[in-house]
Amino acid sequence: MARTPQGLGILVRGVVQGVGFRPFVFRQAKSLGLTGNVRNTGEGVLIEVYGPREAIESLLESLRRQAPPLAEIEEIVVHPLNGTPPPVFTVLASEHGGKATRLPPDVATCEDCLRELFDPQDRRFRYPFINCTNCGPRFTVVEDLPYDRENTTLRVFPMCAECSAEYSDPANRRFHAEPNACPRCGPRIWLTSRNGERLETEDPLREAVEAVKRGKILAARGLGGFHLIVDALNERACRALRDRKHRPRKPLAVMVPDLETARTLAVLDPAEEEALLSPARPIVLVRQREPSPLAPSIAPGLNLVGLMLPYTPLHHLLLREGGFKALVMTSGNRSGEPLCYLNEEALERLAALADLFLLHDREIVIGLDDSVVRKAAGKVRPVRRARGFVPDPLPFPGGPSILAVGPLLKNTLCLTRNREAFVSQHVGDLENLETENFWQKIRRHFAHLFEIRPEAIACDLHPDYLSTRLAEELAANEGLPLIRVPHHVAHAAAVMGEFGLRRALALCLDGLGLGPDGTLWGGEVLLVEEGRFLRLGHLRPVPQPGGDAANKKTWRMALSFLHQALGEKGLTFGQRLFSSRVPEKELAIVVRMIRRGAKSPLTSSAGRLFDACAALLGVALENTFEGEAPMRLEAVAAAPHRLYPLPARDRVLETPALIREIVRDLSRGVPPEAIAGAVHVSLAEGLASFVREAGKDTGIREVVLSGGCFQNALLSQSLKERLEEAGFEVFLPERLPANDGGLSYGQALWAAWALKR
Ligand code: ZN
Ligand code: ZN
Ligand code: FE
Repeated sequence: MARTPQGLGILVRGVVQGVGFRPFVFRQAKSLGLTGNVRNTGEGVLIEVYGPREAIESLLESLRRQAPPLAEIEEIVVHPLNGTPPPVFTVLASEHGGKATRLPPDVATCEDCLRELFDPQDRRFRYPFINCTNCGPRFTVVEDLPYDRENTTLRVFPMCAECSAEYSDPANRRFHAEPNACPRCGPRIWLTSRNGERLETEDPLREAVEAVKRGKILAARGLGGFHLIVDALNERACRALRDRKHRPRKPLAVMVPDLETARTLAVLDPAEEEALLSPARPIVLVRQREPSPLAPSIAPGLNLVGLMLPYTPLHHLLLREGGFKALVMTSGNRSGEPLCYLNEEALERLAALADLFLLHDREIVIGLDDSVVRKAAGKVRPVRRARGFVPDPLPFPGGPSILAVGPLLKNTLCLTRNREAFVSQHVGDLENLETENFWQKIRRHFAHLFEIRPEAIACDLHPDYLSTRLAEELAANEGLPLIRVPHHVAHAAAVMGEFGLRRALALCLDGLGLGPDGTLWGGEVLLVEEGRFLRLGHLRPVPQPGGDAANKKTWRMALSFLHQALGEKGLTFGQRLFSSRVPEKELAIVVRMIRRGAKSPLTSSAGRLFDACAALLGVALENTFEGEAPMRLEAVAAAPHRLYPLPARDRVLETPALIREIVRDLSRGVPPEAIAGAVHVSLAEGLASFVREAGKDTGIREVVLSGGCFQNALLSQSLKERLEEAGFEVFLPERLPANDGGLSYGQALWAAWALKR
């Protein structure tokens, strides 16, 4: 006698839409002989299933163990069903209403699609928009949730009969692949000249490849926006790109066809290889091999190079058909402006930069830069978070919804909803109207997509940041409370949020941020506890001659440190050191400024200390991009010949002692490489013993490390080791950058704590 089949309703929450979850459930249910249905709802995926109990158990088991690679299950909720079992298992259309569902990031082209892409027999042979449920665009094409074709920019391409058949066949790997397309019905590419004239050609791809081979600069529309592309082995083309972009030295990202090629260009460890191959396909900063076939101007003065593997069909086609070993793929923007992602916008703004435009008509909802990661202190960590990671939420303690507007440089913004914090993609430096507009677009898009109406706003303490002014405006217009968060408190909170810490010591080593005492902080030891903080110690403040001008001109900081450490003797030493390398008149002005102490705000910034050391050693007298001098200092650092003293007095770390030793070594002719190494290790040693004291005083064993200086792998590693030896549990950011890119999240968390109190 057959037992009555049982019914079970199963709600699966998490990243379960747009990742091939329904076809997966369909196949499992069928193979287990179950009947019922599966559909997307505002809450996740809802399965109603009927059949023998063991079979239903097996289905539940397979949900947990064999879910599609891109799915992330947060929770499975079940309830019994009493209805009449249907005869078969079906996939139902989406249920609308409610927006609790999450949206996956964009995913690199999968192996199955690649095989078809290069198969002359396949109907999608050489089709630049091939994708399936396991790969392709997501965040960049979604205008609204739930994630259905009608809510994507593919809406304007009605599917042909063949594509429709794939899309509606649960056994097909393109079942409900929302961006599904083919050469007959989908988006296409074309070429235009820099004047925007459409070029009639049989094969735009071929022509684009030929142009790059001839040394031309190609602007190509990609997944999240435009890239400027040149042959990475062609020094003249790379130079031309730099000249036109007014980007003298900031490293250019390089795309290589495969892992094997990456291995020939860089020394890779398994974690770095894994990052290169991950579905997010970030740019991975890795150690360049010497000698390198890459054009010298790709990363001048640095031992690192940013490599990435192809992540769209178009990339694979460009690389393979051109036989390129490496292509420079740098963001398609004018210096200081956000990435271009619309055709007309690119034609206008990039006309002076590119020789040729490769355009397409699959609209991009919002610009999304390539992400950048680097291995530091044992793990691959984000340096810039965008494509492939956004919009995955970070954990949040709940409470009112908060909009955190982020800082000035490397801005991101953050919107929270219950226990989720959505940190936006990299926005850029909020210093012009174009970036401000981009910021506003992202804010509205996130608020719309995730249905968030902020109930409070958080911003930096600095009154002059554009982000602060935007926050003040919004708060005034909407009558919302505004919480101003000291820069380095936000840095600390960002790391605490990632790991769910409510109390910790924080070592913040950073550029500049306004402290509550009105000076510029950046080398601080803080105690942070849910909405309260204490400054336990800091680097000795030093005047910054000419204020902001000293951020770029590292030699100004060097002179100031020399004066602080050695008085007039120091100034004389510095003048001799820099006399032939900086403008004579400016040098004289700065020296006078230092003597008088005029126009020189005080700062305890560790970043400025690294700048000064880089200048003293002749490694970098200028930052042409943020962090350049410290990066070059790290690049030359060799094994230290000795340790420099870095004593602490009254909770102040005496950096002048360190400067005096550097001067002594320089006078003795010790090679700069050894001194650079000694600076790193001595700072780590001095700071670690400083934190040890703070640990003794407070009894706290958890220490978070945050701030831009922790992008320095040598410093991160040395500090982590020493602190762990001293018995601390050390937390470095893993999901957000240690630099200002993670700051909005910290602001939001701090605001949530402050509101709770
Ligand atoms: Zn695929
Ligand atoms: Zn089609
Ligand atoms: Fe910062």
